[in-house]
Formats: sequence, structure tokens, C-alpha cells
Amino acid sequence: MSNVWREKFDNWRRLAVAAGGWSAATPATTRVSPRALLHDALPQRCALCSAPAGRRPLCAACERALPRLGPACPHCALPSIEGEPCAECLRRPPPWTNALAAFAYAYPLDRLLHAFKYRATLAYAPLFAEALAEQVQVPPQMLAAVPLSPRRQRERGYNQAQEIARPLARCLGVPLHPVLSRTRDTPALAALPWRQRGISVRGAFTAVAPVRGVRVALVDDVLTTGATLRAATLALLAAGAARVDVWVVARTLPPSS
Ligand SMILES: [Zn+2]
Ligand SMILES: [Zn+2]
Repeated sequence: MSNVWREKFDNWRRLAVAAGGWSAATPATTRVSPRALLHDALPQRCALCSAPAGRRPLCAACERALPRLGPACPHCALPSIEGEPCAECLRRPPPWTNALAAFAYAYPLDRLLHAFKYRATLAYAPLFAEALAEQVQVPPQMLAAVPLSPRRQRERGYNQAQEIARPLARCLGVPLHPVLSRTRDTPALAALPWRQRGISVRGAFTAVAPVRGVRVALVDDVLTTGATLRAATLALLAAGAARVDVWVVARTLPPSS
């Protein structure tokens, strides 16, 4: 799969270069220009191709060639025909209302996210937030980041979901509140088979601030099985949230994609 996406990326990038790179359309839904988030960054080189990138972490051509999702099921964000709900979600709807993903979890986004999450390349946060903000049609009343356990937060020094949610909240003019607490330490999900992930995180979250009647968007880096987001959503709904949507930077696609 990686090779297919690498080829796609190279082709899209070539097309973007031929078309003259970045087009500066600003989405109408945002209250602060997302671009303003990157204003203070120093001029730098593209993390993918080393071309001059101005104040952004990627050059315009690489940015335009990142793996976008296209029409997707509104509930699980997996590709679907004309963006209709997929059969799986009709049969077994997730606890959240809608899922929004800025990108497919594929080359080279997988590498950027890995560096962001495990090597503290936090300069990517505004890029991720901006890509998500561009897709938001109706802003929620509140943003919440999926928390890490206190132990993991101490080890890593930061929470990647919080780092994405912070610039996103500024972009949208929506408050970001620490409404969830991770009550149980759970094994790193990446190390577990998919089947066991749901069992591992069930009941791992509780709401620690009032959310009754509030429309919340829950922010995380990646949506794979949805086990973590499911547990976090259930905690918010149990505390009376009127609606929970989940917003992620990238959606893991089935192996056949
Ligand atoms: Zn580049
Ligand atoms: Zn679906």
C-alpha cells in the first residue's frame, strides 16, 4: 500500500508544481485565517523535499499532494460512494454523530504524523489544524482533545491531540476545554491486535467538566479502529453532551485501499 501512495503522492506533487503550486483560497468558515497560525514561524525548508517552504513546514507542492480522502462516509470517514453512509455504519452506527478526517493515513502523511507524535515535531500542528479547519462546515460549541494518561503525558512531555486542538480552536474561534480525563492507563494500542483495542480502552475516560447539552468535537491524531474515540465519546455522552463529533488529522484505510 505504501508504494501505491508514494506513487500517487509523487504524481500529485508533479501536477502541483506544474500548476504553479499553492492557491491561496481561504475558507469562509474560519474566523481567524488559518494561515495566520504559521505567521510567526521562521522561514524553513520543506520537511519532505527540502525545497524552500517559506514559513510553512512543507513546500506548496508537497502540501497540495498530501493524500486527501475524497467522498467519505459521514460517520466513519472511510471512502464511500458520493459520501453516503457506508453499510457498516448503517448496520452498527458509531456512538459519535459525524467523523471528519483531513487526510488518508498514507504516505507521506503517516511519516509526518509519526514524527509529530513520537519525535515532537510540533511545527506540523498548524498545518494539521488548518487542513481540518478547512473541512469544518458547522463549528461545535466546544473542542476537546483526547487525553493521554498522566503517565504517558509525563513521558512524552506533550499530548499530540491537544497540540492539534489548540491551533484548531484558535482558527475556529471555539473554546478548547480539558473536559475528559483518562482514568486508566492502557497499553499502547498500536501494540495490540485490532480486536483487543476496544476491550483495552473501554471505560478509560470520564468527563471532568460540565458538557450537558453541549455540542462537542473531539480531536485526535488518527482514527483507526475507533476504540479510543468510542470510549471517549461514550464518556462525553454519559455526561450529557448533546452531540459528539470526532475530528482527526488522518483516517487509516482498509488494507485493500
Ligand atoms: Zn516539498
Ligand atoms: Zn461508515
